[in-house]
Amino acid sequence: MNASSKYTLKNGVEIPCIGYGTAPLTTTIGSEMPKGIDHALKCGFRLIDTAWAYKNEDFLGAAIKNSGLKREQLFVSSKCSNRFRGYDRALMCFKESLSLLGLEYLDLYLIHWPAKDGPDEEWQAINSSTWRAFETLYKDGYVRAIGVSNFWPRHLVPLMESAEIQPMVLQLEYHPGYTQPEPVRFAKEHGLIVEGWSPFGTGQLLNNETLKSIGEKYGKTPAQVILNWSIKNGVIPLPKSNNPERIAQNLNVFDFELSDKDMAVIDSMEYFGGSGWTPDTITW
Ligand code: NAP
Repeated sequence: MNASSKYTLKNGVEIPCIGYGTAPLTTTIGSEMPKGIDHALKCGFRLIDTAWAYKNEDFLGAAIKNSGLKREQLFVSSKCSNRFRGYDRALMCFKESLSLLGLEYLDLYLIHWPAKDGPDEEWQAINSSTWRAFETLYKDGYVRAIGVSNFWPRHLVPLMESAEIQPMVLQLEYHPGYTQPEPVRFAKEHGLIVEGWSPFGTGQLLNNETLKSIGEKYGKTPAQVILNWSIKNGVIPLPKSNNPERIAQNLNVFDFELSDKDMAVIDSMEYFGGSGWTPDTITW
């Protein structure tokens, strides 16, 4: 594997094995936003992960335009926000994201969070209705691949049963101490490629002594150890940084190989930080 390696989605589209996370790089940070994304594109990140909810698609679009890269060199991914669930609203959300990004098409579009499941089946109908909009966008050539984020098997099963086009990607929180084995196993068994958000637990995991001592053996930082571990487990990490050195560091993770023993140590770490968000607990 190297920084240009790709996986092939079930529809034949190729997706980079590492991506650049863009939350919370918002316009409210003023001039910082263009720097992070500009550095990421210069360094070689090609998968850009955004969402309508991040409120940065306009900045990203401008950075993409200024990068001098050809559209087909990039893999741009966004997400339909929770407030736009349902067929018509999902189409509206997509249209707005595409226009803010200033692009003709997206490479990947994800449902950001499933509708919260309850005793009646209304939540399943809502997810299926959103998904029908995704199928329309896919058939009409506005997205090259479609998928879901933060869906667990109990959300995925009814969606997949009612779907005409099956999801190709599952994005979920994934890092040492929180590997979500059930959804990851389910996704892999059904041919979905898995992306992992918050690889560093929004930075909370990077002072961990175990990760530091593993990193010292390879001359790598805890951040690099985590990214190498995620890639070796077949999960696309989406590190966010707005710092040029750290952005470069996050792509320099392919020149070492964690031993099976070190992989097993990291695989079995207990929870030591993360977002605490689940489909059952989020309130937005
Ligand atoms: P993260 O990538 O886990 O951690 C980011 C933090 O780590 C920042 O404070 C960053 O600081 C620091 N950092 C980055 N690289 C570093 C390095 N090499 N050494 C030391 N510190 C480093 O954070 P995240 O933003 O929570 O998650 C990443 C991406 O996942 C998001 O940007 C977003 O694209 C996606 N995401 C998706 C969902 C979803 O519901 N689908 C939810 C959350 C996040 P500096 O910027 O100062 O370097």
